[in-house]
Amino acid sequence: PLTTADLIEEHRICVCVRKRPLNKKELSMKDLDVITIPSKDVVMVHEPKQKVDLTRYLENQTFRFDYAFDDSTTNEMVYRFTARPLVETIFERGMATCFAYGQTGSGKTHTMGGDFSGKNQDCSKGIYALAARDVFLMLKKPSYKKLDLQVYATFFEIYSGKVFDLLNRKAKLRVLEDGKQQVQVVGLQEKEVKCTEDVLKLIEVGNSCRTSGQTSANAHSSRSHAVFQIILRRKGKMHGKFSLIDLAGNERGADTSSADRQTRLEGAEINKSLLALKECIRALGRNKPHTPFRASKLTQVLRDSFIGENSRTCMINTCEINLNDIFSFFFSRLVKEFGI
Ligand code: ADP
Ligand code: MG
Repeated sequence: PLTTADLIEEHRICVCVRKRPLNKKELSMKDLDVITIPSKDVVMVHEPKQKVDLTRYLENQTFRFDYAFDDSTTNEMVYRFTARPLVETIFERGMATCFAYGQTGSGKTHTMGGDFSGKNQDCSKGIYALAARDVFLMLKKPSYKKLDLQVYATFFEIYSGKVFDLLNRKAKLRVLEDGKQQVQVVGLQEKEVKCTEDVLKLIEVGNSCRTSGQTSANAHSSRSHAVFQIILRRKGKMHGKFSLIDLAGNERGADTSSADRQTRLEGAEINKSLLALKECIRALGRNKPHTPFRASKLTQVLRDSFIGENSRTCMINTCEINLNDIFSFFFSRLVKEFGI
């Protein structure tokens, strides 16, 4: 059987798709579902109402990924095959990154931050919390216990190319690069955490900070990248870092013509950071010496995650039921191919 180490070896970059269930509105409007997941690694885009012949799915428009999760999959399941193997990476002095990517409304925040029930989010069921839980479990293993590692968390947002600290009342932070290309987010709060409960509290603080004071909270959060990091330190020195990122919605670029100036600028900025991300992943996959991390604020602050021998990435492309999702599938496939 495959061990976790094999999984990590195989998946320096793991790319998967997760389809969310139809919501009440879609069900009541009898919206057409054009996306089917016929097997555990295939996503198929088909004509509306077309009767899907699952035995012949390869003849249709299909995309193959490391995993494809259908609408019955829980966060825990998605986590187990995506971020879970990367928890080991940070204990082995590595850098891990997990992205949620997709249109607004496709389930990025649900996947990373946790289940919503009504208006409240149960953040204990999101990948941020599940990863934290396993970090504290791993710390108890004798081989890691003897390292005497400390755990810290940061939570920040990148909006229109600017960094805001979600653990410090949205303080605007500067990003500096020293002569050795080390990138530093000046003043970013790094809070020590001793247990999963501590982490949940920080996620709640960050979440409330993310949406408060906005006239249109959802619109804002869909246009920003949220970065939650779990950092392991040994005698003060960084041992490993896990960055978990709820990316800005990727649909903005597509409808630039109809949008107002501000929205167009935001869309251009989001596009820029997603393209920069793709280029950095390409460099990571090829072990290229030069990583074009300066192309966006997102890739700049993630710079140390894209270099070094022991860097691992997973991307969870969340999707809905409509044809717009096809663009994100093309993007995710590219990322996968670059990363191999
Ligand atoms: P995004 O962050 O991509 O804009 P959200 O995570 O906010 O999307 O999800 C949009 C809505 O769909 C939310 O009400 C959320 O509860 C629901 N949702 C998303 N994914 C799932 C899922 N896998 N199962 C159940 N509900 C989901
Ligand atoms: Mg969201």
